[in-house]
Amino acid sequence: MEFVILAVVIALVAVGVISGLVVSGRKKKQLPPAPSSTPTITPPAEPHVGEEAETPREEPRRTIEEVGPPEAEAPAEEAPEAVEPEAPAAPALEVPEPTAGRLVRLRARLARSQNSLGKGLLTLLSRDNLDEDTWEEIEDTLLTADVGVAPTQELVERLRERVRVLGTRTPEGLRTLLREELLTLLGTDFDRAVKTESGLDTPGVVMVVGVNGTGKTTTTGKLARVLVADGRSVVLGAADTFRAAAADQLQTWGERVGARTVRGPEGGDPASIAFDAVKEGIAEGADVVLIDTAGRLHTKTGLMDELGKVKRVVEKHGPLDEVLLVLDATTGQNGLVQARVFAEVVDITGIVLTKLDGTAKGGIVVAVQRELGVPVKLVGLGEGPDDLAPFEPEAFVDALIGD
Ligand code: GDP
Repeated sequence: MEFVILAVVIALVAVGVISGLVVSGRKKKQLPPAPSSTPTITPPAEPHVGEEAETPREEPRRTIEEVGPPEAEAPAEEAPEAVEPEAPAAPALEVPEPTAGRLVRLRARLARSQNSLGKGLLTLLSRDNLDEDTWEEIEDTLLTADVGVAPTQELVERLRERVRVLGTRTPEGLRTLLREELLTLLGTDFDRAVKTESGLDTPGVVMVVGVNGTGKTTTTGKLARVLVADGRSVVLGAADTFRAAAADQLQTWGERVGARTVRGPEGGDPASIAFDAVKEGIAEGADVVLIDTAGRLHTKTGLMDELGKVKRVVEKHGPLDEVLLVLDATTGQNGLVQARVFAEVVDITGIVLTKLDGTAKGGIVVAVQRELGVPVKLVGLGEGPDDLAPFEPEAFVDALIGD
């Protein structure tokens, strides 16, 4: 009996030893290969810049905030093997149109607004009898063109008063009064220049925000052309990682004028890309960095978190010089709601109104400026590459009512 027990104990011990060996053997397999005698330091993965963007990333990028600025990043343990991208034939660079006087050249694009707002008002004002009904129709015309309730009332009151006091009745006289009052509504003393200079020896940084579909990426691309046309060098940051094609779209815009695009993986961290873009701009000695962002209005908190983070991270390099809100002029009141939400999230410094070519509601320029207390700086007047114009109140009003 004792012998049997002893045999069983020996057998158990033997099994234990063997299985222990197996387990530790397995564990050993999981260890990384022993380092070679001299440790090699793999440089941190470079930002996805331009053509390198196609290199797949295995790990989603961590946020800058989680890891600190990339300079401080620990060396990547397993950098993906460098895949030499096929060198694409360098596209011929385009020479964008000069920006001065673009609004004047594109004035015909405002035809719809011109017909319903400008011509509508002039026709009403030319009536023999400017009675109560006519003033009401004038008011309706302004409201229909999205000028907004308060500005409409102000304009009608002032116009009525001046017509009465001055006794103006000639078409020319009425046109002049209308022109002056529309200009007053638009404001002639706003600084409408897009601020693209930091005043330091680093690039000016412009962030472009807005709801997806408003024309944000297109505007960023067009703005790059405007800057290049003015002799500035530009780096683009494709921080709209939400919309699948946005980075490609932006890169194409950039390539056409020789601007480099910093991008990351689809769905990657926008703040990290924005940070890298500014870093790249500084390294290249670029004049301006333009950052396209994603504008998902899923929840205000989500938007606030995302844009707030992009802004904070970019500002590690220095202050933002301009935050442009892109609004689709055809969306009317909805555009104003968007404007309100964005203004709560980031400090908007300028407005870009796109698709003014496709709407009769040119009055939105007035309404949105009133809403935010921020000037319209650029207007989109078509899908063509040079269809973005600096906003000039005089040229705009002249286009509306004819000069
Ligand atoms: P995002 O999602 O805000 O980045 O929007 P996109 O830049 O992709 O633009 C959405 C669509 O609006 C595209 O088809 C653009 O060509 C078009 N678009 C942008 N700006 C203008 C404009 O000023 N006029 C017209 N007609 N279309 C525009």
